[in-house]
Amino acid sequence: MVEKVRNFINGKWVNAAEGRMLKSINPADTTDTVGIIPRSGQKDIDMAVTAARNAYNKWRLTPAPGRGEIILKAAELLCKRKQELGGLVTREMGKVLPEGLGDVQEAIDMAYYMGSEGRRLAGETVPSELANKDCKSVRVPIGVFALITPWNFPLAIPAWKIFPALVSGNTVVFKPSSYTPVCATKLVEILVEAGIPDGVLNLVHGTGDGIGEYLATHPKIDGVSFTGSTSVGEKLSRICSAFDKEISCEMGGKNAIIVMDDGKLELAVEGAIWGGFGTTGQRCTAASRIIVHEAVYNKFLSMFTKAASKLRLGNGLLKTTDVGPVINDSQMEKVLDYIEIGKKERARLVIGGKAYKKGPCAKGYFIEPTIFAGVTPKMRIAQEEIFGPVVSVMKAKNLEDAIRIVNDVKYGLSSAIYTQDVNNSAIAERDLDTGLVYINASTIGAEIQLPFGGTKKSGLGHREAGGKGGAIDMFTKWKVIYRDYSGRLQKAQIDK
Ligand code: NAD
Repeated sequence: MVEKVRNFINGKWVNAAEGRMLKSINPADTTDTVGIIPRSGQKDIDMAVTAARNAYNKWRLTPAPGRGEIILKAAELLCKRKQELGGLVTREMGKVLPEGLGDVQEAIDMAYYMGSEGRRLAGETVPSELANKDCKSVRVPIGVFALITPWNFPLAIPAWKIFPALVSGNTVVFKPSSYTPVCATKLVEILVEAGIPDGVLNLVHGTGDGIGEYLATHPKIDGVSFTGSTSVGEKLSRICSAFDKEISCEMGGKNAIIVMDDGKLELAVEGAIWGGFGTTGQRCTAASRIIVHEAVYNKFLSMFTKAASKLRLGNGLLKTTDVGPVINDSQMEKVLDYIEIGKKERARLVIGGKAYKKGPCAKGYFIEPTIFAGVTPKMRIAQEEIFGPVVSVMKAKNLEDAIRIVNDVKYGLSSAIYTQDVNNSAIAERDLDTGLVYINASTIGAEIQLPFGGTKKSGLGHREAGGKGGAIDMFTKWKVIYRDYSGRLQKAQIDK
């Protein structure tokens, strides 16, 4: 079935002003068109921003528990439709069905968490130094937000942004990736069914260069939350700071697993397989570097290669598939280019290295799970984000050396260490310069009740998700209120 999706502006499903269209294609079978979407332009963005602006005051004044209840209702609807939506994520983005369902589950978890925030959104009351005077800090919304999202978590990442933005009292213009527009549309449909008022949430489909930048820099947009590549995030953040706009960016990664000589190798291999080839290596937290203590390097490499050779490529909807396709032709070309770069850099190609075109896979964007050994820290394949099923295995002399290699990249999203030594784990926890650190677990698998994000070129501004320093900080600002009920002029005590 081909879905004809539309923009959602001011409570109505509408076509783009200029009537141009784009296609969303199943990456496992490019003959399968998932959706036809409007290729929107600046006029559509103008209408959506105006609608969000007009709806802002009423939504801001809607009691936060009431805003939260709409999101909790959306959580229930997501639960009811989990199987259908999980299948859609797999069809439109390519990840295997259990991961497609996981994508929906993250949206559900975030909806319950952020819906409940409507009854918290706590500030602070502290004593005044003067009699008959109150002092408190309260969270207030920022205004109209542009939310710009990638394709690799087509439901979860939009949910991670839309729910906290709305519960905090902001209104939203949402521009999802043009590669996963149908998933994005379903999420908006669910919020509409849950009762989101007209104008509060607006959806505009289109390309990044076509409307993304125009939206982010629109004079009536107060804040931007972006997830995607570092190059686009940095560009947007430069432009937004020139316009004095709030912006937070979650960007690329070059995540690493350290395997120590005292680590459980079977567990480390499972973590490397899951981290390196899960979601076809297309997670921002994917483990694209495995840094192994020299004493266990050969043994680990042979176990890892054996496990990778058993992975079955195919359509993610089939139970027999372990690894799905990459998202599109340009990503396929980029990954294959990096494999050539790795060979030229004289890394040793141990397994994989080619496009995979057997049987039905000939119709999709499949690449063999690829492992390079003998990779050294300065090689491009060890430094740059590839975002595909390509893992570099590197040797370290000791823990200090391993940590230095992990940190010696421009990114800082996620890292992991496999060790049974409590001292090693404590040092790694202290010295790994990444936003997320896993001990005896892979680089992927963040939980939504904790803040999510990276250091260096992986993250700018506020973190996502729950907990202290999470998304509620991104979508609110602090206001401090002093109330004097003494009925006379009281001056701060300056002569103490
Ligand atoms: P991308 O940067 O190409 O696109 C992301 C979004 O930005 C899309 O909606 C796109 O249309 C839009 N966009 C593109 N150019 C734009 C421009 N000039 N102005 C405004 N918007 C623009 O990234 P992608 O290929 O969709 O996603 C893959 C990247 O996302 C990887 O680098 C990955 O690491 C990163 N990512 C990061 C996280 C995280 O939390 N750190 C999570 C998922 C993905």
